[in-house]
Amino acid sequence: MTGPFAHEAVSDEIEEIGQVLGEVEEALARLERGDYGHCEECGETVEPAALDADPLLRHCATHRRAVQP
Ligand SMILES: [Zn+2]
Repeated sequence: MTGPFAHEAVSDEIEEIGQVLGEVEEALARLERGDYGHCEECGETVEPAALDADPLLRHCATHRRAVQP
């Protein structure tokens, strides 16, 4: 596992971890403000089942569809 390719893969991974960390920090901030589990667009409660699957969800079912590419 040496060479420029391995190094690139590790850099990508570190970048990804940094992104996830940022999302977790955001989720914690929302938890502190008391709006965790609510859609950022409309304020609707995000379905608990969906939050179970992905605790970092920020949108209700309707707006998740709208923001996804
Ligand atoms: Zn919404």
